[in-house]
Amino acid sequence: MEAKFQELKTRLLEVDDLSSAAGLLYWDQSTYMPPGGAAARGRQMATLRRLAHEKFTDPGIGKLLDALMPYEESLAYDSDEASLLRVTRRDYERAIKIPAGFAAEVTNHTSESYQVWTEARPANDFERVRPYLEKTLDYSRQAANFFPGYEHIADALIESRDYGMNAAEVSRVFAELREELVPIVSAITSQEPADDSCLHQHFPEEKQLAFGLEVAKRFGYELDRGRLDKTHHPFMTKFSLGDVRITTRTKENFLGDALFSTLHETGHALYEQGIRMDLEGTPLAGGASSGVHESQSRLWENLVGRSRGFWYYYYPKLQSVFPEQLGAVSRDTFNRAINKVECSLIRTNADEVTYNLHVMLRFDLELALLEGNLEIRDLPNAWRERFDADFGIVPPDDKDGVLQDVHWYFGLIGGSFQGYTLGNILASQFYTSACKVHPHIPSEIKRKGEFNTLHNWLKANLYQHGSKYTASEIIERATGSALSIEPYMAYLRTKYGELYDLGNCSVA
Ligand code: ZN
Repeated sequence: MEAKFQELKTRLLEVDDLSSAAGLLYWDQSTYMPPGGAAARGRQMATLRRLAHEKFTDPGIGKLLDALMPYEESLAYDSDEASLLRVTRRDYERAIKIPAGFAAEVTNHTSESYQVWTEARPANDFERVRPYLEKTLDYSRQAANFFPGYEHIADALIESRDYGMNAAEVSRVFAELREELVPIVSAITSQEPADDSCLHQHFPEEKQLAFGLEVAKRFGYELDRGRLDKTHHPFMTKFSLGDVRITTRTKENFLGDALFSTLHETGHALYEQGIRMDLEGTPLAGGASSGVHESQSRLWENLVGRSRGFWYYYYPKLQSVFPEQLGAVSRDTFNRAINKVECSLIRTNADEVTYNLHVMLRFDLELALLEGNLEIRDLPNAWRERFDADFGIVPPDDKDGVLQDVHWYFGLIGGSFQGYTLGNILASQFYTSACKVHPHIPSEIKRKGEFNTLHNWLKANLYQHGSKYTASEIIERATGSALSIEPYMAYLRTKYGELYDLGNCSVA
């Protein structure tokens, strides 16, 4: 048994090597590669991903998993070995349902579609990308149909990113959240908007980057196992547990962009850097689900990084970095500026309160498209109508409407958005649980700018386990209950009740 288990681990390590190499090529493409490299780079990444997929779906892996079944059954459920076998089996059974030829076709199609989108978006030309998107929808339906037996066509696609979730469950959680959220959004947006002009001044790039990185290090991001570089669309990527990188982007005329992108990606990176080293190179060395991963980026970005307590400690430091710009701006004014709530067009710039409405819009449109209740050609209009209904504004063009997010143009339609809102919900649930055990966490942040207690609780209860447990298992273990919107709503009511008059909505 031992020999077979080792053989499986060695094979999985090779799969991981190939995927990590593809990831490194992607990192390079998004940071330093000259534009001339684009065509060859797309092909090179596709080759590596295909080889990884072939290696992983090799029938030999299936035979090893079968042979190791009695071994798995003899082990405790939460042992590393049993977990590795359980998670590998789940991934393997999923992967073999998708024919290799189909996966390669989709990769080719989506990289073409992405290329067209990068030109169509600035040109505000949905028609140009429409045929590609139609094909993507086709592929998405085909992909879903490789998994028969689901209730809703989107279920398999949702499950691939948020295992244990399905269309009905996400819809239920979203409906519950929406009911509580909409009155808060209207209460806030009917008031005078916060003045955020202090953020819209000239802030030299180098100083912005240095300040963000300084905070990331204080959070616990280890630079001997990571680095920060610039890119267009910030992301975190991992090539091994010893090399977890983050990227950010700067706008010299807006302070909010680089700083909070950096803190967001730092949250993702802390999760990956916190995984136990002995899970390295196995399918367990990753996050539990897209929602749980996103909960960590949102926790560090918002619950910590946009909190009054954090800036109690850090604002004087920021002022000393930018004395001309912020020297005369009070901490209160700054705090209101970084927590400004408004109905805006772009999801990635949205505040904590309206953000989820952006996600729900996309999630519902994905379902309608997959169900066949919405045609791609009617998508721009459906987007405008829904946007008007939810935000009271109609996007003036498709560029900042249906063309704004890369997801549908670079991957399948279905399952790509729900994780953001699940992450917002879970961020509060994890943070509240940590503070219940260690009530001095907020004062440690406020008085000393220290994050060790919080970081250690997250490492012990969440990060170290990687993907040993499913999202619902880890939520239950760490917080003692199932996913709940209550901590999130309590957080929003308290925080925004201090910043705005919430009227009736402030009472739960
Ligand atoms: Zn994220």
